[in-house]
Amino acid sequence: MERHQITGHTELIGLMAYPIRHSQSPATHNAAYEKLGVDIVNLAFEVNADDLEDAIKGLRALKMRGSNISMPNKTIVHKYLDEVSPAAMLCGAVNTIVNRDGYLIGHNTDGIGYVQSLKDNSIDPAGKKVTIVGSGGAATAVQIQSALDGVREMSIFARDDSFRDNALETVDKINKNTNCKATFYPLEDLDCLKKEMASSYLFTNATGVGMKPLEGQTYIPDASFFPKELIVTDVIYSPHETAMLKMARKAGCKTMNGQGMMLFQAIAAIELMLGQRVDSEYMKEKLG
Ligand code: NAD
Repeated sequence: MERHQITGHTELIGLMAYPIRHSQSPATHNAAYEKLGVDIVNLAFEVNADDLEDAIKGLRALKMRGSNISMPNKTIVHKYLDEVSPAAMLCGAVNTIVNRDGYLIGHNTDGIGYVQSLKDNSIDPAGKKVTIVGSGGAATAVQIQSALDGVREMSIFARDDSFRDNALETVDKINKNTNCKATFYPLEDLDCLKKEMASSYLFTNATGVGMKPLEGQTYIPDASFFPKELIVTDVIYSPHETAMLKMARKAGCKTMNGQGMMLFQAIAAIELMLGQRVDSEYMKEKLG
């Protein structure tokens, strides 16, 4: 690997999360900086909730350009920032901090990444109905951003677990703050799920069902849930094709996995921090 020549001018952008050593994110961001020709490096820092306040003070004191934020810090870091974007506020989570001369602004680019990955695949849910399953962090970001970006109607399904209330809150926030009409349904009601999917333009799995330790699993009972006009997407990118996406593809549906969401959330974060947009085709090639 060719090394960036670090000098006294080199600036720093961080990634604060725990655990973090396995993350692909610094490699993605450093590849983008290299392409943009900016003298910046991205480093991962093992920071958990106990160290977060000090870490953000450090970011200010060191005049870092910003930081990416991942779990467990996404839902708490707003307390230490000066401003939070509307989408991050509605999601209750920040994944990007931009340092504007000491004024720290929190954003959430997960949902933006998902919507841009749809666009990249010529999928446009604006003005249409979608059905999204999930009540965790990824689901909330996808649901909020889709509503902000013009989805007309959203059916949100979630199973009865500790995340369920998030989905109810998301429905409430969407109905109060956007022009989208959102409705909650229990995932246990499979007849209802089938009906809502059949009347949707787009269906999204935004749960962890389909990746380890639930790899090979899906809550969709059979292929009759997938009319071939339905576009089917998954936020999961590993495996490349979940059991659900495979079933949908075999039923004749257009499908998309979560790889684009991951790439475009990084591209959006870089654009917010640097004011420059890196070429997505280059990044796809670079990251394989
Ligand atoms: P989370 O822990 O916040 O939420 C987990 C969600 O999965 C909840 O809605 C929960 O109800 C649901 N769930 C778990 N087991 C279930 C089951 N057996 N049946 C039905 N629902 C079940 O997790 P998260 O951060 O929202 O991540 C969810 C998935 O999204 C993960 O697979 C993660 O890899 C993926 N993700 C992808 C991207 C991307 O950029 N593509 C970004 C973030 C997360």
